[in-house]
Amino acid sequence: MARFRVEGFLADSMLGRLTRWLRLMGYSVEYASSEWSDAKIMEYCNSKGLFLLTRDRELSKRYSNSFYVRSENLNDQLAQFLSEFFPSRDLFFTRCPLCNGKTSRVPMSQVSDRVPDGVRSRYDSAFVCHNCGKVYWEGTHYDSILKTINSIITRL
Ligand SMILES: [Zn+2]
Repeated sequence: MARFRVEGFLADSMLGRLTRWLRLMGYSVEYASSEWSDAKIMEYCNSKGLFLLTRDRELSKRYSNSFYVRSENLNDQLAQFLSEFFPSRDLFFTRCPLCNGKTSRVPMSQVSDRVPDGVRSRYDSAFVCHNCGKVYWEGTHYDSILKTINSIITRL
């Protein structure tokens, strides 16, 4: 498959976990409601220049800027995606996994009223989503996410 220059991605409603992981890696991924018809999905992707990720093989045949996500297994899905769209480490943790908003790193003092005590004292900085306001920090979850991503990338 050719490497497309895309503005972003639309994932269908079967791909919620993959969507959150790709956002963590900095990809802009919108999420289609399960109520959307195939026609609406294709029209939406077309109008916004989005590449479609879908578990629906028929739909992927009808819409050329798309691929059929073969597996139900998250690691396999990530491997399939990353073999087409290689990630950039600079973009990791620049997007909110919940809402797709952009995040930036801020000093912990700016968000200290919004994190648990233990976090406040252990980390100097945090990430804040510009869209929904959620605060993230480099906890154990962060390390395990990086480990998973790295292990998938090295096997590509
Ligand atoms: Zn957010």
